[in-house]
Amino acid sequence: MPDNEVAGGKPRHPGAGRGKARPQPKGRQVDGQALAEIRTLLGPGPRRRDLLIEYLHLVQDRHRGLPAGLLAALAHELKLPLAEVYEVATFYHHFDMIEDGAPAPAAVTVRVCDSLSCALAGAERLMAALAADVGPGVRVVPAPCIGACDKAPAVHVGQRLIAHADAASIRAALVAGETTPQPISHRRLASYRRDGGYQLLEACRAGRRKPEEIIAVLEQAGLRGLGGAGFPTGQKWRLVRQQPAPRLLAINADEGEPGTFKDRYFLETDPHRMLEGMLIGAWAIEAKSIYVYLRDEYPGIRALLGEELKALAESGLSQGLEIELRRGAGAYICGEESAMLESIEGKRGLPRHKPPYPSEVGLFGRPTLINNVETLHWVRDIVERGAAWFVGQGENGRKGLHTFSVSGRVKQPGVKIAPAGITVRRLIDDFCGGMAAGHRFKGYLPGGASGGILPASMADLPLDFGTLEPHGCFIGSAAVVVLSDQDDVRMAAHNLMRFFAHESCGQCTPCRVGTEKAAALLGQPRWDRPLLSELSTAMQDASICGLGQAAPNPMLTALRYFPEDFA
Ligand code: SF4
Repeated sequence: MPDNEVAGGKPRHPGAGRGKARPQPKGRQVDGQALAEIRTLLGPGPRRRDLLIEYLHLVQDRHRGLPAGLLAALAHELKLPLAEVYEVATFYHHFDMIEDGAPAPAAVTVRVCDSLSCALAGAERLMAALAADVGPGVRVVPAPCIGACDKAPAVHVGQRLIAHADAASIRAALVAGETTPQPISHRRLASYRRDGGYQLLEACRAGRRKPEEIIAVLEQAGLRGLGGAGFPTGQKWRLVRQQPAPRLLAINADEGEPGTFKDRYFLETDPHRMLEGMLIGAWAIEAKSIYVYLRDEYPGIRALLGEELKALAESGLSQGLEIELRRGAGAYICGEESAMLESIEGKRGLPRHKPPYPSEVGLFGRPTLINNVETLHWVRDIVERGAAWFVGQGENGRKGLHTFSVSGRVKQPGVKIAPAGITVRRLIDDFCGGMAAGHRFKGYLPGGASGGILPASMADLPLDFGTLEPHGCFIGSAAVVVLSDQDDVRMAAHNLMRFFAHESCGQCTPCRVGTEKAAALLGQPRWDRPLLSELSTAMQDASICGLGQAAPNPMLTALRYFPEDFA
């Protein structure tokens, strides 16, 4: 039977099998000019499926968006279904689709951060002021946290960060055409080496230090994953090391938790300390390749890391290791480790079901060590100074150091490296110069958007992994947002839930629908406690990943600890 027929001799579709050609081929046709442009943009060399997001950035950077014709050409060139390219392109917030005949987005995009710290500093008023008058060729859009909460309200004009922005400073940047990242005066390779940098790595590679010895020091120091999850670092290195080769290393530089900006600080000031930790990690697990996944909100750091990785290769320190710097595209969920792996593979950032864990089945199916920037930053110091040095830093019965990103109503917000176990009271008074003028301490978020909200009456809790859970909170990435008597906790919880609704990857119903419904309910004049409680239980119990599971924390703790805001 001819393959265009079904049993009974009926053709599969009208016209088929009767010698009639379709009036036109199925699907979108690839335009020759578009294909030529894609080939020029991608350059010579093999086409890689895992580089799809990098390719999309090439198109977006040239056209200020993704023209439909070029996406069809890209799909053709990569031998991918067009639907697959579309689903990736539409997943990430920083990509703009341009349908046939539609104009490209404005020449300059002004992104006004509207996450909590910036909202406290007047982001909404700023949006309104800008909407009234920004001039032609400019669009103003709200943006989730851009990692500059200590400079609130923070705004990106193109790729330029405007700290403590107001309408005048934004207009001034637009008039001056300042839309590229400010250069960052960071510590360079030569300076880092003069200070003994990379000697530990060289000792490791020369066999003077053994992997087991380094892992043991990290275990004795109690170093934990400082991206938020807190998994013991030494144990993770050991687990991956035990897996069959080839093994891979992925660096999570996608801090997106509202309130968190510590990785930005470490990369902007002393990038080689992290890079040395990275190379020691690669040596310890005998990694074949390294992938550094950096959030798109940090374009200045992208340039800086590009330069320093090149310097490392030229110096011979990267010793033939394949190191790829990958660019995120505006998706908070890609800070979740398995979503990050999907994104590095060029796909939508959908968290994977676990097990299997990435240490066994990770990137491209290989055992993968995933470490956060700050975690690797501490490796050299801990090994050189000894585990006892790190352990001895804690207080209130806790051990080690924490890097707090502090923002909100304090006099001196910023990155504060402090003993683990410090209380928020001491953090505010001794590290931040006290509360901002005219503000009385009311409460605080100990762990960014996901970690819940605590009242001032609980200002003497030690801040560390495991100390806040009995109170419905956690420290996560140690992003402390301080609230004052001038702040409405209901507004804060509503802001955070809107963020989660915006950032939910949509894979599972409890989170996709739950965050959206909860955000709508929190916007009501009276909160429906029984309904919110039922919704929270469904989200906590049935969501696939931490986003959906932790999203109810701010509203539940707001209800529990701030009854006066609901009177
Ligand atoms: Fe995606 Fe939310 Fe489900 Fe996580 S919990 S997989 S973010 S829908």
